[in-house]
Amino acid sequence: MKSYDVAECGAPLKLFERPTPQPAGSEVLLRVLAAGVCHSDIHIWEGHYDLGGGKKLKLTERGVKLPLTMGHETVGEVVALGPDATGAKIGDKRLVFPWLGCGSCAVCRRGEEQLCLAPRFLGVFRNGGYADHILVPHARYLLDIGDMKPAEAAPYACSGLTAFGALKRIGAVLKDEPIVVIGAGGLGLMCLGLLKAMGGKGAIVVDTDPAKREAALKAGALAAIDGAAPDAAKQLAAAALNGIWAVIDFVGATSTAKLAVDSLTKGGKLVIVGLFGGDITLPLPFIPMRAMTIQGSYVGSLAEAKELLELVKRARPSAIPITTHPLDTADATLQALRAGRVIGRAVLTP
Ligand SMILES: [Zn+2]
Ligand SMILES: [Zn+2]
Repeated sequence: MKSYDVAECGAPLKLFERPTPQPAGSEVLLRVLAAGVCHSDIHIWEGHYDLGGGKKLKLTERGVKLPLTMGHETVGEVVALGPDATGAKIGDKRLVFPWLGCGSCAVCRRGEEQLCLAPRFLGVFRNGGYADHILVPHARYLLDIGDMKPAEAAPYACSGLTAFGALKRIGAVLKDEPIVVIGAGGLGLMCLGLLKAMGGKGAIVVDTDPAKREAALKAGALAAIDGAAPDAAKQLAAAALNGIWAVIDFVGATSTAKLAVDSLTKGGKLVIVGLFGGDITLPLPFIPMRAMTIQGSYVGSLAEAKELLELVKRARPSAIPITTHPLDTADATLQALRAGRVIGRAVLTP
């Protein structure tokens, strides 16, 4: 099998050819049909997260081992089953849920494998979808995509699930009040479509890139505001009639988190999803006085992933723009995303 791996952080992805694995036990082998290229792949490739103040969180210290085949948004066709595998058959086209925990701790047993302290995430800690084959430990991680095209379904494993998870953290207020979505990349656009499918009131989008603001308006945003404008917080307040109840920050930078905190009304909630990095200083009395909630959200659970796919199959939210690229352009595609040249989602198709 062929894969394009991170052999060294910050160096071009390298082509590896290895024997195609034979599934053992409950494992299932899939031939990759589509693999989304995600922003978090850039952090894995770079090898660190920026913690602000010159500090960095190294991924190799968090258990990421090289060489690594990235790719955690994978759709494949089942081509081989381990002797104990049940729940899948040859020829099934499935979306792979990649956020695997250890499978046996209390957190995993509660169905929150994405929060397990011994993660086995595919494409992060184990080999993922930048390849022509992927090995999945159990068929319960394979989700039915109905009649969706593989490249269209792939981004739901991370981008879609992350947007859906963030929207779920906001709660019922999203049906009554517009929310603010910071960042109109793949995640932000996905969020707009899902918000509508969930019966949401709508979203005011913030992005510094005019092309992305335009894409957001086309995708149904109520308004699109330049986050770099000196009066961005004022513009936000003017666009939302009853104050800002919820902000989802898909960027997660110092400037965006500050804008979000400054904009929230009493009782409002900031959900931080993006991993751009940085830090903020926040007067502690503001948190109780403004009854403010700051919550982090990390992808979603297996149950939420299933709920998401049911919602997508039922409500058919407008698809985000997707461009497909041959697998052997994995490195160039990753670099295009890193340079901010991708609108919507780039998907590798072997
Ligand atoms: Zn991702
Ligand atoms: Zn666990």
